[in-house]
Amino acid sequence: MGDEKKTLTTGFGQPVDDDQHSITAGPAGPVLMQDVHLLEKLAHFDRERIPERVVHAKGAGAHGYFEVTQDVRAYTCAKFLSEVGKRTEVFVRFSTVGGEKGSADSERDPRGFAVKFYTEEGNYDMVGNNTPVFFIRDPLKFPDFIHTQKRNPATNLKDPDMFWDFLSLTPESIHQVTVLFSNRGTPRGYRTMNGYSSHTYMWYNAQRDYYWVKLHFKTEQGIQNFTGEEADRMRGEDADYATRDLSDAIQRGDYPSWRLEVQIMTPEQAKSYRFDPFDVTKVWPHGDVPPITVGRMVLNRNPENYFAEVEQAAFSPANFVPGIGPSPDKMLQGRLFSYHDTHRHRLGANYHLLPVNAPKASPMNSYQRDGFMRFEQNGGSGPNYWPNSFGGPAPDPSVASPPIDVAGMAARHEYRHTDVDFVQAGALYHDVMTSDEQQHLVRNIVGHLKNAQQRLQLRQTALFYKADPEYGEGVAGGLGLNLEEVKQLAALSQEERVKATAMESSQ
Ligand code: NDP
Repeated sequence: MGDEKKTLTTGFGQPVDDDQHSITAGPAGPVLMQDVHLLEKLAHFDRERIPERVVHAKGAGAHGYFEVTQDVRAYTCAKFLSEVGKRTEVFVRFSTVGGEKGSADSERDPRGFAVKFYTEEGNYDMVGNNTPVFFIRDPLKFPDFIHTQKRNPATNLKDPDMFWDFLSLTPESIHQVTVLFSNRGTPRGYRTMNGYSSHTYMWYNAQRDYYWVKLHFKTEQGIQNFTGEEADRMRGEDADYATRDLSDAIQRGDYPSWRLEVQIMTPEQAKSYRFDPFDVTKVWPHGDVPPITVGRMVLNRNPENYFAEVEQAAFSPANFVPGIGPSPDKMLQGRLFSYHDTHRHRLGANYHLLPVNAPKASPMNSYQRDGFMRFEQNGGSGPNYWPNSFGGPAPDPSVASPPIDVAGMAARHEYRHTDVDFVQAGALYHDVMTSDEQQHLVRNIVGHLKNAQQRLQLRQTALFYKADPEYGEGVAGGLGLNLEEVKQLAALSQEERVKATAMESSQ
């Protein structure tokens, strides 16, 4: 703040004489309508809240930069990735997913990891999570899934029956459930977790050769997680711990950084890969597709105003720049619609003009006009249609993405690769986790699943057993379930298992 003493004004710039005493008829009299300053002040206050994000409502953000460390021009013509040493300004928002805006940072939940790159070819958003996979692979399931992670419609309470009913009826969730209930489901803070694109995206180069890629932002602070008990305690001690930790670190000059690695698969590899490479419930094992380092991201500036910069920040996986595009990943295709749509609801049709969302390093020359809160020149006197012969901005065919081969019958196709759904959850438990991590995982699951109906405990534990027998036995033991019953359920098809654990059969 400058030294210059400023006069308080109304929102319209008129000086205000007194901000402590309403205009009344006599010292004890009622307030008069003619106190227009009071009316304006109350009316604006009444409208301070905007709709909360339906997911990722609680978040924290910071500004920084991304620097290229590896020449990747063979894979992408994106200009911001075109030169080693090139820096691009970024804004990052971290978040929890299911909790409301006032919920605790240390809840067990995936964490959002959204990066906006202000490139010279427009804004590119990488809207990922701290987990490399997701619970479902079809966007038609998303609203139902989120309902089950939120509150019971009758009681307004979180409901373990809803939570485990849906997950046990959705076996493709087993991999993400395993990550969620490991200690990575309660990261110590936003600085000490990785960020993953989770989805597969397309990169294409100047010759229009394309590749499928997955992005991994690896924390240079090292992974640090709370145990379940530590996270529970932190919810009471400091509900805003991750937000505070990020802001404090940047404030003291301890700038958090991440190394960007990418996994790259050729279209030919993808065609013959041993499972569907566009299935977001699966990772690409590093042994098959080794990650290569591409760059480094550093966060070095806190927001000055939370609402303006973090609450109004709007990310979308549909924000691509030339050189980057979507893949056939079904969940991604759904998200390409939903993000812009939710921001139009939350912030209005012109949300892309807000300073945090507007391109910073490139011009914005569109024929979009009007709409609520159009606060810049609105295209001025230039033409508002295309084609025109009055010198308006013209499309540039050279930025077209390469065509890809798509064919098939339009139908609601059943997913056909479900036989491999348990493999990676099993590998995570068996090959990656230490025995300490396995014990924490089982303890975290038991502490939550014990609150669901027993038929749901059985159905879900059978899925853990299918991922890895030792994993299933651990959960069954912790819940006091009959292991033989779990094994029998695990041997059934999902359809038979659902029938065997239907409501009628509950004790
Ligand atoms: P690797 O041994 O090459 O990779 C294992 C990965 O697991 C590492 O990247 C590590 O991430 C991550 N990891 C370690 N502990 C945990 C944990 N408690 N929860 C979640 N992730 C953890 O094996 P593969 O690539 O063959 O993958 C084996 C399994 O590892 C997969 O089935 C998947 O569940 C998990 N995984 C794989 C990733 C991938 O992209 N291939 C990414 C993350 C997890 P870090 O290096 O950051 O510690």
